[in-house]
Amino acid sequence: MKRGLYVGRFQPFHNGHMSVIESIVNTNEVDELIIGIGSADISHDIRHPFTAGERVLMITRSLDGLGIPFYVIPLEDVKRNALWVAHVKSMVPPFNIVYTSNPLVVQLFTEAGIPVHSPPMHLRESLSGTSVRKKMLAGDSWKESVPQEVVSVINEVHGIERLQQISKTD
Ligand code: NAD
Repeated sequence: MKRGLYVGRFQPFHNGHMSVIESIVNTNEVDELIIGIGSADISHDIRHPFTAGERVLMITRSLDGLGIPFYVIPLEDVKRNALWVAHVKSMVPPFNIVYTSNPLVVQLFTEAGIPVHSPPMHLRESLSGTSVRKKMLAGDSWKESVPQEVVSVINEVHGIERLQQISKTD
């Protein structure tokens, strides 16, 4: 049994994240996948508009029918980077391989002796959490950048109105 861990902030979960997960499943490298939702303790700010629970919904609904078992687990940040891998290990099922392209995350898991794979980027110039949030704020079209299930969750929680409200300066 081989289990992979894919960590991200997923603010919001977008088509780039989805394509990484699909490519992990298609390579048959792992039997199960853990999706770790980082910065689970942060929400309602411009870089982190959505709560951990809202991100759990976005991901769980988008991955319905993925084809392999998966677990979506919120992970609070910790103040000391040197302790973060131990914190993650204490919160998720055992895993053999980590998927990430985030340089700090690559570094921390590599130092801990855990193999790290960096899947290819999908339309990185135009597709990032930052670019999607920017479009949401500007009133530009963002829905084609995320799975349909994510659009539903964001509509349900009035996410665009939230982002626009918290971006106002007083
Ligand atoms: P993210 O949501 O920005 O990205 C998640 C992953 O998807 C990354 O590997 C990223 O490279 C990849 N990705 C993004 N756009 C893509 C695209 N278009 N195509 C393909 N892949 C794409 O999240 P992140 O910033 O990598 O999340 C890391 C999390 O780990 C954060 O929540 C961070 O706080 C947490 N962390 C915490 C500590 C600590 O608490 N001390 C230390 C390290 C990391």
